Amino acid sequence: MSRPLTDQERRKQISVRGLAGPENVSELKKNYNRHLHFTLVKDRNVANPRDYYFALAHTVRDHLVGRWIRTQQHYYEHDPKRIYYLSLEFYMGRTLQNTMVNLGLENACDEAAYQLCITPQKDLAKIKQLTDDGSGQSARFCSVTIRKYHAFSSCILTQCQRRLTWLENNFFNNLWRWTSSNNETTVPFFVRMTAQVKVKNKTLQLKHKEGSSDFDLPAIDLKQYIYCSANLQPSQSRALETNFVRLLYIPTKEEQQLDLSSEYCAPLFVCCLAEILSHFRPSVLDPPRAYGRRINNFNARSATLLSNVAPCSCNSERCPVLDGRGGAPWHTAWDITNRTCAYTNHTVLPEALERWPVHLLENLLPRHLEIMFEINQRHLNRVALVFPGDVDRMRRMSLVEEGSVKRINMAHLCIVGSHAVNGVAQIHSDIIKDTVFHDFYEMDAHKFQNKTNGITPRRWLVLCNPGLAEVIAERIGDEYITHLDQLKKLLDFVNDDAFIRDVAKVKQENKLKFSRYLEKEYKLKINPSSMFDVHVKRIHEYKRQLLNCLHVITLYNRIKKDPSKQYVPRTVMIGGKAAPGYHMAKMIIKLITSVGDVINNDPAIGDRLKLLFLENYRVSLAEKVVPAADLSEQISTAGTEASGTGNMKFMLNGALTIGTMDGANVEMAEEAGEENLFIFGMRVPDVEKLDRDGYDAKSYYDRIPELRQVIDQLNSGYFSTKQPDLFKDIVNMLMNHDRFKVFADYEDYIKSQDAVSALYKNPREWTRKVIFNIAGSGKFSSDRTISQYAREIWGVEPSTMKIPPPDVPRE
Ligand SMILES: *Cc1c(COP(=O)(O)O)cnc(C)c1O
Repeated sequence: MSRPLTDQERRKQISVRGLAGPENVSELKKNYNRHLHFTLVKDRNVANPRDYYFALAHTVRDHLVGRWIRTQQHYYEHDPKRIYYLSLEFYMGRTLQNTMVNLGLENACDEAAYQLCITPQKDLAKIKQLTDDGSGQSARFCSVTIRKYHAFSSCILTQCQRRLTWLENNFFNNLWRWTSSNNETTVPFFVRMTAQVKVKNKTLQLKHKEGSSDFDLPAIDLKQYIYCSANLQPSQSRALETNFVRLLYIPTKEEQQLDLSSEYCAPLFVCCLAEILSHFRPSVLDPPRAYGRRINNFNARSATLLSNVAPCSCNSERCPVLDGRGGAPWHTAWDITNRTCAYTNHTVLPEALERWPVHLLENLLPRHLEIMFEINQRHLNRVALVFPGDVDRMRRMSLVEEGSVKRINMAHLCIVGSHAVNGVAQIHSDIIKDTVFHDFYEMDAHKFQNKTNGITPRRWLVLCNPGLAEVIAERIGDEYITHLDQLKKLLDFVNDDAFIRDVAKVKQENKLKFSRYLEKEYKLKINPSSMFDVHVKRIHEYKRQLLNCLHVITLYNRIKKDPSKQYVPRTVMIGGKAAPGYHMAKMIIKLITSVGDVINNDPAIGDRLKLLFLENYRVSLAEKVVPAADLSEQISTAGTEASGTGNMKFMLNGALTIGTMDGANVEMAEEAGEENLFIFGMRVPDVEKLDRDGYDAKSYYDRIPELRQVIDQLNSGYFSTKQPDLFKDIVNMLMNHDRFKVFADYEDYIKSQDAVSALYKNPREWTRKVIFNIAGSGKFSSDRTISQYAREIWGVEPSTMKIPPPDVPRE
């Protein structure tokens, strides 16, 4: 994108990025100029990149507005069932270019900008990137969360992460919000989310609380709020909500110690529920249609997805809320709760399955605690009825865990309060049924489902890898963008030399582009013909960045030992953020950067091996690195990664996977053919056996010389000469209490990596496997995931609404 495209190139760039028809383009040009002049009150002599961004964003947003209003009108007229997705984590990425892609406007915008000569192509590319990413995890449908305090940006130069909040850091994103003007304290924060026109408009709703400064909190009786929330008028509750949430975000000592910050989000969901309920309650603020709606109809009119455990307090919320507002008796309220709520589990790691201390709830949410006890009593009565005399099972299934600290098991509460429970990949859903929630499965097998995760092919192919999207469209047409399983048609081209060449060429271009980016932004020089071996995801022991490090050091030792031998050059890139309080994760980052310093500066190595840490890994960086990757590292200990979505992004973008039989890797191997991935290591039953027999790390250390050498180097300060003890904690963990059994998979991982290098020497065979993978990636579209949730859990069908052209306002 660094030079203007020729006319022929511009004509050739067709369908996947939208048509750049002359009417389209001239309309965009007109609107762009109009916004520059009338909205921003600037002309080209004084406009800066920010102004260009706003002019462009307003122009694009106009197209959204028309659709948005038509969508709302349709909802108003047809009153369809609403889906509320409650989550504390949303990973949004940047908005402008995504909106262009989804509206099919990107080519037209590029063309308009080109014709206006306002911004050469490269500036337009920059403008598209002016906003920051959002943060959190996947977002779809009507989703509710807290907007503040989320994002943190990491900066590795200082060896620590700086937190920046999304809003403080950039005002650009504010353009995409809609504020409601009828109150001053609580600002509902609607972010327009689009899907490609052919799919449907979706809305992401982020809740935001704005209030006075930290030191200016009016005295509010929190308990009073909790007790009363169900009966307050909206205007009354708003003032309370505002400061309530603020208060909860300033942890006291005890709370910090318990690291409960995320749990304090729970009360926020009270507010969300109040909002959901407001659609069912006559109020002067509601549109006339809302009158007449009946609370008994609640589950037919709305469905709630509880994403992860945190918002599960909704279950206990919903009862009193319904109780208070609808005057329904317990069994009706509970029945509605149950039929409305569904729970998606996202992890089986015990530390992430929250168990809240009863004494804290007593202080913070006493009424909720009462309700939880009541729920538990009724739940246990049922367990006793279904499994008479099974006292141990009652103990295991109780919502209340006895022990030195009495706790409420929030996952259990979620299961009991929901009509459906699902995992996010087949293997994960099986683990849930077989082990983690086995007792619940035996009692209510019908609740348990699987919904394998997906990624959106708009952002994760069309937007981030237009070259590949185009090469595919030239062979099979462009319908695959909204019907990703059509990628199967590429199987006809696995032996087509021209296609193989095109796919390899796009990859090489993406690698060059990413190399230039690294050089420009980070002064890193890498060899673009080396294998790009990429491991990007949150830093966590279970994701085993350490196993990758052991492989890199092994390669380093081999080259040092026998420098004259031929080696396949590799650039290993590891990137990801560490949770601020997670010491071991931070040490892992330190290890990666330290090992990189030694290897990258060793003249005996040259450009045969490099280890880079990609700092501040986020959606916009993923969009750059994923299309450039040759090898995708998905090497979690079998049974620990629920699904992963990074694995799918790489597969779709033409990287080969080295991975364990974990999460969605299992289904990727099924779809692409196991022989087209590099599958290695223990399967779940092997891990379980090792757990039963006792995992003895030292036995691997004693038996495998290359492993022993690496560990001895770490232990002796080879990679930390100034601080020889620096990595003792890591070594100690690996040798004595490694829950994720890194050494047990070391040998097979190295073997598999050797096979990767061997195949890389044969570009044709490599690219053929790439094509098998792309052809097999159709299952992993989020379109498929969402429609399964819709039909099989939420009980909704796709809307038949037709959206007319954007700029035709209707009475
Ligand atoms: C996709 C994505 C993830 C999830 O990656 P996994 O490999 O599935 O853990 C995390 N962070 C960012 C920025 C992503 O884009």
